[in-house]
Amino acid sequence: MNILVLNAGSSSLKFEIWDMPAERRVMQDTIELQDTVQRAGGMTGALKSVFEKAAGIQVGAAGHRIVHGGDRFRSSVVIDAEVEKQIEELSALAPLHNPHNLEAYRAARQHLPNAPHVAVFDTAFHQTMPPRAWAYALPYEYVTEKKIRRYGFHGISHRYVSGQFAAVHSGGRAHLRMITCHLGNGCSVCAIEGGESIDTSMGFTPLEGLSMGTRSGDLAAGAVLYLIQHEGLSPEEVSRILNNESGLKGLSGVSNDMRDILKAVEGGNERASLAVDNFCYRVRKYIGAYLAAMNGADVLIFTGGIGENSAAVRARICEGLSSLGIALDDGANEAADNTDRQIGTSAISVWVIPTKEELLIARDTLGCL
Ligand code: ADP
Repeated sequence: MNILVLNAGSSSLKFEIWDMPAERRVMQDTIELQDTVQRAGGMTGALKSVFEKAAGIQVGAAGHRIVHGGDRFRSSVVIDAEVEKQIEELSALAPLHNPHNLEAYRAARQHLPNAPHVAVFDTAFHQTMPPRAWAYALPYEYVTEKKIRRYGFHGISHRYVSGQFAAVHSGGRAHLRMITCHLGNGCSVCAIEGGESIDTSMGFTPLEGLSMGTRSGDLAAGAVLYLIQHEGLSPEEVSRILNNESGLKGLSGVSNDMRDILKAVEGGNERASLAVDNFCYRVRKYIGAYLAAMNGADVLIFTGGIGENSAAVRARICEGLSSLGIALDDGANEAADNTDRQIGTSAISVWVIPTKEELLIARDTLGCL
């Protein structure tokens, strides 16, 4: 059966078609929404383009990446009217993501009215976190009733790479402790014990944790108050600064793209150096935190655009961790390769595993039918 996988964002709609269970990718493309807005109306126009490109391919089901499943969804589900309503309600928690995901679902439903549509959530994998990891130390009712708590994101990617390691590369070792680093435009680290997420660096929103392309990551809540109370910024301005103008882009002043920043570092740009140094140091601190959370680890995995492609960033992150059992093999780290590969044979083995979020969505979609 061919399964259409949709990953809708604010500026683009990525889609792939997978022949399942053969796990053969039949098609992949990205529709830029700016192009379609003028032509045929946002997501409806984008979906029209998807089905034009896929003309002649019989699609039997669709899998949708849904960013926020709150504490209601612990696994993937077939979307019915009730599930759709709940995803809509969760838009309050993810205003930058869930509305686009839903819009894509509704437009796809018009093209495939009778096929099953499955929601695969970015948060679901982290629903196994224990309360001590997901609770903020706020007044209790804020955590329980208002649900101001940590959810975690990138769950599809953390689950894929950890599952891939356990199934294919672990040599049968049971009860693995893994630390997975998804470093792309968005970045997060996850601690995984026995296949379950026990902590992760993103929290109530994807703004928490590591420094990212344009997001600040961890920041004193007091700094947000200061910007509003003393600098006179509106909540909308603060949101724009923290989500779109911070992270690698904000500190370096060069770009949100790690490739441009690394080039600027080579050219002696001090702000670019600070941005990379700060980025790597913060990943290293989370690795240290998760070694403490699990009393060590068996494997450290890098994935995402930066994690898969930048030997320099991986080397910087792992620098000075040898007494904790993490060291890279320089030759293996620097070898250009885009397959699963071991780059460190230290006590904690280090791997690069390219993420395949769309494949996992296709697997879950098949599994839900
Ligand atoms: P997303 O999080 O949007 O899925 P990706 O996982 O594709 O994004 O990661 C995108 C980022 O990966 C880019 O912003 C770029 O900084 C980084 N990247 C891609 N290739 C390289 C490379 N060879 N060296 C350093 N960084 C890279």
